[in-house]
Order: sequence, then C-alpha cells, then structure tokens
Amino acid sequence: MNDQRLCWICEENVANTSEHALKRSDIVRAYGKGSYHNLKGKQPIHFKNGKQTKLQGANSDVIKNPKDLCKQCNNTLSQPYDRAYDNFIEYVVNNSELILERRFIDFAEIYGEDFPTQQSNLFKYFIKSFGCRIYANPDFNVPQDLISIIRNNLTHFSTGLKITMSIKNEVINYLGKQCFDFIGKSELLYYNLEDCPNQFRFSFSEHIGWFFINYFYLTPINERSGVEWISDRKVIFIGEI
Ligand SMILES: [Zn+2]
Repeated sequence: MNDQRLCWICEENVANTSEHALKRSDIVRAYGKGSYHNLKGKQPIHFKNGKQTKLQGANSDVIKNPKDLCKQCNNTLSQPYDRAYDNFIEYVVNNSELILERRFIDFAEIYGEDFPTQQSNLFKYFIKSFGCRIYANPDFNVPQDLISIIRNNLTHFSTGLKITMSIKNEVINYLGKQCFDFIGKSELLYYNLEDCPNQFRFSFSEHIGWFFINYFYLTPINERSGVEWISDRKVIFIGEI
C-alpha cells in the first residue's frame, strides 16, 4: 500500500498528507476558493499526460500528489517556506511590467530587510516542491542533500539543485501579459548517472503565466533560462526560453 510510505522530509512519520502538485494558493489566486462549477466556460481544466479534467475546486484530488509528507512537516515545518513563496508570486503578479522591463528581481524589494532569511525560505519551498514531485514517482528517492537542508533548516549549504527563472514570450504572445491563471508544470525529465545506477539527474519547470521557475538537479542548467540561484544572491537575473 503506498498509503504507508514515510514522509520524505523527516523519514520517521507515516506520510498522511499530500502536497498539491499545483500550489493551492496559486489556484485560489487565479480562480477563487469556492466551487468552480459556476465559472462555466472559465472553469479551469487540468491537463496531464494527454488527459483533461475539469477542476471542481482548489482542493480537487486531481492536483494532489500521492500522500508524501507527515502533517508536522507539511504544516509546521514548511509553513515559513510556503509563505515566502506566496509573497514571491504575489510580487511577480503585481510587478509583472517591471519584471518584463528590467529582467531581474531584487529580493530586498519583496522581503525588505529580512531578505536573507526569506529568500532562503523561498529556496526551501523550491526544495519542497521538487522533493514532492520526485517522491510522487515510486522509483525515485529524494536526494539526501535536499532532505538535509530542509529538515535541519540550514542557512549555509551546497546542493545539486539549481534554480533559474525565465520569461516565455510564446506564452505572452498567445495569452497576453496578465495570463496568471495559466498555471502548470513541464514533464519531469530524468537521466541515470552513468557511474551510479541509483542516482538520477532531474529537470523540469513550473510556471505561473509566462513566468517560469526551472529546476535542475545534477544537470547543467540551460544558460538562456537565467542565472542559477541557490538563495545565495540578493538579485536573480531572469532569462528567456
Ligand atoms: Zn515528516
């Protein structure tokens, strides 16, 4: 029974909650909290593996991962990470013209003086999102370097995970600049490391409208997708894909 898997963060408690594959707050921002039935033609549609499902609401099982975290790790431990992400995306949505014009984001403009802690929390949110995506596939384990950062709330670390952020003009041309209700993830790409059969490289992207967050684990980054970031810099330069 895959119900009995352990939480991938603490590796102690049974995983009895599931992280949304698409973040609930992103769906609520775009579509609201209630039932999506009465949105009629605007009811969000979820596409996965060529299959379409109409979303009934922000808590729909369609957008949930299998159970992957214990309550404590999903709520108490990672709450500051989730909040840092929500503030970040809110900034992106509210400052989209500025971001498109100058192509960088200064974390001090989002988080104020507390930016060192908050940008580190944001990176830990990306680790959580990455980990849940990997763990949703029973063949993969979440890499230990990432578990250690998030479990011990480390502030200084090295890791195989690199994040870049980019603009996708194709989306703007197709849907316009305010298309932040177009939310999704790209396919998870993975490759076996030649010399180590149990270790994989991974890459995928998540996006809110035209704004893409790109994940590279032990994979050379796509340099055009932006400058790599592991919460070590106050400013992130944004690429174009
Ligand atoms: Zn746990």
